[in-house]
Amino acid sequence: MKILFAASESVPFVKTGGLADVVGALAPVLAGQGHDVRVIIPEFGAIPHEYLSQLSHVCDFEVQLGWRRQYCGIEKLEKDGVVWYFMDNKYYFGRPYIYGMGGDEYERFGFFCRSVLNMLPLVDFQPDVIHAHDWQSGMIPALLKIQYAHLPFYSDIKTVFTIHNLQYQGIFGIREVQDVLGLGDSLWTEDKLECFGCANFMKAALVYSDLITTVSPSYAEEIQTAYYGERLDGLLRSRREDLRGVLNGIDMEDYNPVTDPRIAQNYGIQDLAGKAVCKKALQEELGLDVREDVPIIGMVGRLSNQKGLDLVDYVITDIMRQDVQLVVLGMGEGRYFNLFSWAEGEYKGRVAARFTMDHTLAHKIYAGSDMFLMPSQFEPCGLSQMIAMRYGSVPIVRETGGLRDTVLSYNEFKDEGNGFSFFNYNAHDMLHVIERAIGYYRNRKDIWLSLQKRGMSGDYSWTHSAAEYLKLYKGLFEEKKENGDKKTEEENPVVVDIGN
Ligand code: ADP
Repeated sequence: MKILFAASESVPFVKTGGLADVVGALAPVLAGQGHDVRVIIPEFGAIPHEYLSQLSHVCDFEVQLGWRRQYCGIEKLEKDGVVWYFMDNKYYFGRPYIYGMGGDEYERFGFFCRSVLNMLPLVDFQPDVIHAHDWQSGMIPALLKIQYAHLPFYSDIKTVFTIHNLQYQGIFGIREVQDVLGLGDSLWTEDKLECFGCANFMKAALVYSDLITTVSPSYAEEIQTAYYGERLDGLLRSRREDLRGVLNGIDMEDYNPVTDPRIAQNYGIQDLAGKAVCKKALQEELGLDVREDVPIIGMVGRLSNQKGLDLVDYVITDIMRQDVQLVVLGMGEGRYFNLFSWAEGEYKGRVAARFTMDHTLAHKIYAGSDMFLMPSQFEPCGLSQMIAMRYGSVPIVRETGGLRDTVLSYNEFKDEGNGFSFFNYNAHDMLHVIERAIGYYRNRKDIWLSLQKRGMSGDYSWTHSAAEYLKLYKGLFEEKKENGDKKTEEENPVVVDIGN
């Protein structure tokens, strides 16, 4: 199959979160199975020179945005069997930040979406499927159906849209988006592009994509409820037949305690002696009391409300009343910076907090911690709990989204499970589960070891998920045959100058 991924980030080029991990890992796996996979991302100024210097120019053209015509260059690099395209426009993407500033996000990513469609004939790639990721690419399925589907080159292209986090939707004023993308008044109704009086890139994708996926089966169910649905639950319920949850994987090579060069000593499932060395090294590096018998609770992730940190805030004194150590690595909200800075001073030698992006330290925490705490309010998939299990750090999680799909709470009667979990978003429920985990850690070393081993032997690779995505892509074409080749077309396609 010919597949185009459109996303705002991808490892190893530019990353702010899990989206980059998914795009960067899934594309090469699909290419490895013999498919023609190409990826387009903006050529952000933050992409390291090491990659920028390898790019070769493919083509350039002008793109009409309202009354403006903007330059768009397409460069490429081939790596891991995938053609990676980079969209060059210094005005939009050559800035010192990636998201969230400048007040013209709708124009930057409107330009991205429009240009992705316009570049296809020019790079001579007619994909079977465009797989768009998160709101920054959300206008692609909408523009395709509304403005391009009547052109023979585009008429058979199918679209898949993946929700990596429903909380970020790309909400802007209708007038601004209308102006930039030439979307007429008749399209701004509830059943099409209008969303509570605004333009919403995520909603546009949810209405116009042929198929919608999200990153875990549980999150796919949850987002159809008002609690998790971020005001789009009604729309998601109406499209439930086209909505699937496909669990993310992790990079099993990068996160492998047997070969990881970043940790103090390698270890594997047969012999965990190296993990004790990693624990000691972590305690020394972070200025914690060096004690083998005290359990270390690790936390790595964005310091945001989504991650359930208000629960930790509520009972941190109760947690620290236990004989435990706490290690936190993350960046984010000031409230949590204050909380963990205070805790570090209050519990000297027992709490360590670092507020940077540090991949090496993250590996050391996964390897050196005994438990990994992730009490998220919602969690589309979550990669950290899978990484923790791979390193024999036993997860303590809230039963939501991908956490629910990957962590099974220990059941002493059946002797099954690979971690500990709680259901209600309640600080004392979390505290109780932490105490339960500490109890097993101290008094039942045999059970603890079997929990670690079960976690370490889990298959978190991309193999299953890639096969599932492929099945979904193929299904789009089978469906078409069943429906007698019917095409859904907008009643009044708006003919625009697509600049080709
Ligand atoms: P999300 O995508 O919601 O941020 P995930 O659990 O899906 O959360 O992915 C987070 C990824 O980013 C994990 O690989 C985690 O180790 C990494 N990470 C998060 N914060 C940091 C940090 N401060 N330093 C290093 N790695 C981090």
